[in-house]
Amino acid sequence: MASAPVADETAASGADVRYVYRFGGGVSDGGKGDRNLLGGKGANLAEMASIGLPVPPGFTISTAMCGRYYAEGQRFPESLKAEVADGIAHIEGITGKRFGDAADPLLVSVRSGARASMPGMMDTVLNLGLNDETVAGLATASGDARFAWDSYRRFIHMYSDVVLGLDHGAFEEALEIAKEDKGFTLDTELSAADWEALVGQYKVIVEEQWGKPFPQDVHEQLWGAVGAVFGSWQSERAKVYRRLNDIPGDWGTAVNVQAMVFGNMGDTSATGVAFTRDPATGERAYYGEFLINAQGEDVVAGIRTPQYLTRAAREAAGARLASMEEAMPEVYAELAKVFDLLETHYRDMQDIEFTVQQGTLWMLQTRSGKRTAKAALKIAVDMAEEGLITQEEAVARVDPAALDQLLHPTLDPDAPRDVVAKGLPASPGAASGIAIFDADTAEKRAELGHAVILVRVETSPEDIHGMHAAKGILTARGGMTSHAAVVARGMGRPCVSGVGSLAIDAGARLFRVGGREVKEGETITIDGSTGELMIGEVATVEPELAGDFGTLMVWADKVRRLKVRANAETPKDCQTARSFGAEGVGLCRTEHMFFDAGRITAVRQMILAEDEKGRRAALAKLLPEQRSDFAEIFEIMAGLPVTIRLLDPPLHEFLPHAEEEFEEVAEAAGVGVEALKRRAAELHEFNPMLGHRGCRLGVTYPEIYEMQARAIFEAAIEVAEKTGEAPIPEVMVPLVATRRELELMKAVIDAAAEAVFAEKGRRLEYLVGTMIELPRAALKAGEIAELAEFFSFGTNDLTQTTLGVSRDDAGRFLTAYVDKGIYAKDPFVSLDVEGVGELIRIGAERGRKTREKLKLGICGEHGGDPASIAFCEATGLDYVSASPYRVPIARLAAAQAALKQG
Ligand code: ADP
Ligand code: MG
Ligand code: MG
Repeated sequence: MASAPVADETAASGADVRYVYRFGGGVSDGGKGDRNLLGGKGANLAEMASIGLPVPPGFTISTAMCGRYYAEGQRFPESLKAEVADGIAHIEGITGKRFGDAADPLLVSVRSGARASMPGMMDTVLNLGLNDETVAGLATASGDARFAWDSYRRFIHMYSDVVLGLDHGAFEEALEIAKEDKGFTLDTELSAADWEALVGQYKVIVEEQWGKPFPQDVHEQLWGAVGAVFGSWQSERAKVYRRLNDIPGDWGTAVNVQAMVFGNMGDTSATGVAFTRDPATGERAYYGEFLINAQGEDVVAGIRTPQYLTRAAREAAGARLASMEEAMPEVYAELAKVFDLLETHYRDMQDIEFTVQQGTLWMLQTRSGKRTAKAALKIAVDMAEEGLITQEEAVARVDPAALDQLLHPTLDPDAPRDVVAKGLPASPGAASGIAIFDADTAEKRAELGHAVILVRVETSPEDIHGMHAAKGILTARGGMTSHAAVVARGMGRPCVSGVGSLAIDAGARLFRVGGREVKEGETITIDGSTGELMIGEVATVEPELAGDFGTLMVWADKVRRLKVRANAETPKDCQTARSFGAEGVGLCRTEHMFFDAGRITAVRQMILAEDEKGRRAALAKLLPEQRSDFAEIFEIMAGLPVTIRLLDPPLHEFLPHAEEEFEEVAEAAGVGVEALKRRAAELHEFNPMLGHRGCRLGVTYPEIYEMQARAIFEAAIEVAEKTGEAPIPEVMVPLVATRRELELMKAVIDAAAEAVFAEKGRRLEYLVGTMIELPRAALKAGEIAELAEFFSFGTNDLTQTTLGVSRDDAGRFLTAYVDKGIYAKDPFVSLDVEGVGELIRIGAERGRKTREKLKLGICGEHGGDPASIAFCEATGLDYVSASPYRVPIARLAAAQAALKQG
C-alpha cells in the first residue's frame, strides 16, 4: 500500500505526541492546514479561522489518533483526556459557555473529516451536551424553548443512530405520528411542548432498544461520539467508498469538536450549502440552497425542499419561495464576499457549508468542490483566463479519468423522445436502461450485463453500490445538493433528481408518472443535463472535442512529451481515434478481420489444410481482403505510423463448430467433412494462451505471415500512390521470446517487402519490430533489439505472463487480492509498476543499449490509464496507445505526467 501510515509512526513514539489541535478565537495550533494530520475538514476550518472568517471555535483530534485507536483495540490513550479537556476549555473560553452547565450550556458538534473528502460516508453528531437539565438551561438562556427542545430531540435521534447504533426508523416513525396527530406537514410547525413530548417518547425508545436510559453525562456523550466517529472510518459504506475512490485504508479520519451554532433559532436563522461556481456546468455563478429555521443535514436530507441562494437561480427555476439574496440581503452580501475571498485564497471552486444564527453568519466547512467533468474543464479554462491559475495548473487540475463522462454518446437532439416528466438536471449525461428500485437488485442486474437506471424516492449512503452499478440515477425527492446529486456527480453518473410527479411504489416494483406506469425491468431514459425523464430508449450522437475541452487539450499538448496513439482496427475506430487527436495506430490487430462473415470459411480452410499447398490456396483468397482492410486504415491514418500486429490468437479460436460450418469449409476446400473434423480435433490445446499462437504460428506456417506482410506492403504502396502521402507501416511480430524467432519472421517480412517493391517498382519506408509480452523477451531485449526496430510492450499479456494470472479467470480472486492489499489495484487496469514495470524498465534499457533509437511504446488497456501513463513517461517510452475513446484521456494524462516529471 502507498503512503506511510502516520498513525503507526505516532503510536510507536508514545504518549508525548500531540493529538489535539485547537482553532478559532485567534488560535490555530495546526498552523496552515496540514490536511494529512487534521483531515480536510479540520485543516480548512483552521485555515478559515486564521484568515479571519467567522468559524465557531473548536479543536481537531488528528488522524494519527485514528490509527492508534484501532491499533489499541478501539481504546483511547490516557493522555488524550487532558488534551481534550484543554480543547473544551478553549471553546468555553471563547464562547463564555460551559460544557454541561445547567444554566447556559455549551453544545458542540463532533464531526468526522478524512484527508480526502468522503461526503456523507462517515458520521457526525450535532447538539452534543444536551440532557434533561441543560435543555432547560438552553431554553432559558436563549429565550426560545421550542428551539431548545427541537435541538434535544435532534440530538437524541442522531446520537442513538450514530453512537448507540439503534434503529433510526423508530425515531422517524414517532416524529411522523406526532405530526399526523396534530395535522402538521412540516417539522417547523411543532411547538416547544410538542418537541418536549417527543423527547419523552424518544427516551422510551432508547431504553427499550438499548436497555439503558439515554446517557445524561455530557462527558460520556462526548467520548461516545468521538469513538463512534473514529469507528465510522471502518463502516462498510466508508470502505466501499474508499475502494471506489482509491483512498488508502490507513489514512484514518480526524475528529473535529466544534461549538454549535444554530440555524434553527427562528426565521432569522438558516442553514445552507453553496458552491462558488456551478458544479454541474462550471458557470461562474454562486450556486446553492438554504433552509430557514433548520439545522445541518436538513438541506441535503431532502426533508423540506430547500430555497435557492440567488435570485437569478430562483427566477430561472420559477420557484416561489424567496431566495436568500431576497430574504436575507445583508447576510447574503456578506456570504458572497466570503465566497470570493475563499476562491482567491484556495484558487479553486469551493463547496461551502454555512449557518446563520439570528442574522449572524458562521462558516462551517469549505473544500474544493466536486464537479462534473464538464464543469471541471470550464472552471479550469475560465480560471486560467481570469488569471487566477496558470494554463499548466489548469491542465494539472482536470482529472483525466473523469473525461470519460464526456467521451460517450449523448442523446441525439433530433431523435424522437417520449418525455413524461421533468426533474432537476442534477448530474449531466444521458443514460438509458431498465428501471430498478433498489441498490442490491441494481448491482445484480448490472452484473448480468444490463444497463440499469436506479430509481429511488431519494438515495442514502447505503445505496452507494447500486449507484455505482447503475448507468444513471433517478429520484423523486431531493435538490441539486441532495445525496443522489452529489454522489452521482462524483461518480460521473447521469442523475435526474426531485421529479415531484414521480410516484414510486417500491413494493409493487413500479412507478407512475404523468398517467403512465413503468414496471421494474422496463426501459427508461434520463437526461441529467436537462432533467428530462423519458420512457423507452433514445438514439444517441457521438461526442466531440469542442469548446473548453478543445482548449484544454491544446494546452495539454503544449506540455506533453509522450505521443498518443490508438488501438484501432476498423475504419470507424481509426476515424474516431483521429478525431480525438491520435497520432497514429499503436496496435492494429488482424484477427478480427479473419472473423468477418465473408472470410471465415477461407480462414477455416487455411487452418484445417493438411499441407502448405492447401494453406496457400486459402491464403490467396484472403490476400485481397486483408489488402483492402489495410488500405482503408492507411488512408485514414495518412502520414502517421500504423503498427500492424501479425496473426496472434490460437488457431482453434477460428474452428468451425456447427455441422453446416464444417460442410461449408469442406466444400470450399474440396475435402471430406470427416477428414476436417479429425484435423480440428488435432488442433485441440490444453492451455491455448500458452499454446500454438503468436509468432509460433509464423514459425510453423510462414506462409500466413508472408500473406499478411504482402497485404500490408501492397496496401501501403496503393495508398502512397493514391494519396501522395506514404504511410509508415510498422510490422509487429507477436509473442516473441527469442532473437531467433524474430530473425526467422523478419526474413519472411523483408522478403515479402522486397517482392512487392520489385513488382510495383517502388520502395517504401517500413519498420519491423516486436511485441514484448513475455518476461524472457524483456530480459533478452538487448539481443532482440539487434533485429527489432521498435518494441511495443504488450502489457495485457505481459501482466498475465509475469504474474502467472489469466485475466479471464482472475475475476474469482482478484477482488480479494486488492482488498487484502496484495496488489494495490487491479493489475489489468493499472500497471503493476513494481513487477511488470520492472520488466518494462529492463526491456527498455537493454533494448536501447543495443539500439539507441529503438522506438518504445505500450499497447494494452494500460495505455489509457493515467497512473500507467505516468509510469511510461518516467520510463522514457516514446508513446502510449489507448482505445480510441480514451485518446483524450491519455493526452491529458501524458501532459500531467510530463508536468510532474518537470
Ligand atoms: P458531513 O461531512 O457529512 O457533511 P459535517 O461534519 O460537515 O458532516 O456535519 C453535518 C452537518 O452539520 C453539516 O450540514 C454541517 O454544516 C452541520 N454542522 C456541523 N457542525 C456544526 C456546528 N458546530 N454548528 C452547526 N452546524 C454544524
Ligand atoms: Mg453530512
Ligand atoms: Mg459537511
